[in-house]
Amino acid sequence: MTDIYKLWTRKEELENIIKKKQEDIMQPLSQSTGELSLYDQHPADIASELYEREKDNGLLELLELELEKVNDAIKRYNSGQYGICERCGKSIEKARLERVLNTTLCSECARQKQDKTTRPAEEDILSSARMADKGEAIQVAGYEFYE
Ligand SMILES: [Zn+2]
Repeated sequence: MTDIYKLWTRKEELENIIKKKQEDIMQPLSQSTGELSLYDQHPADIASELYEREKDNGLLELLELELEKVNDAIKRYNSGQYGICERCGKSIEKARLERVLNTTLCSECARQKQDKTTRPAEEDILSSARMADKGEAIQVAGYEFYE
């Protein structure tokens, strides 16, 4: 599979997942829990439903972020910059590109960047995961009033 084919495939995948998630989120709460109305439900059920939804929202943001990066990578590909490190101008290792399709840094530059900012080396994937953790913690705290 060529790089550009992989990028387009990932782009399509992401667009489909995002569309599906957006449709899920648009559904009224009472409908997706299968109850008559919000007021008939135990507050804890509503809380867990809301929690699931917030998780979906967080995931959606991450997917949109990834799509943005994949689009960037396609742009770079079209201008002949794909697979070339943004920082040092050397070719990015093939294995690294295969692991992080939309990376803009070679592993050496990524490591240096990590030292400076204490961010994980696989910046695209791991920083997304970190954002998700943070979001969930805030949401959990936000729902304490249900207890
Ligand atoms: Zn580099």
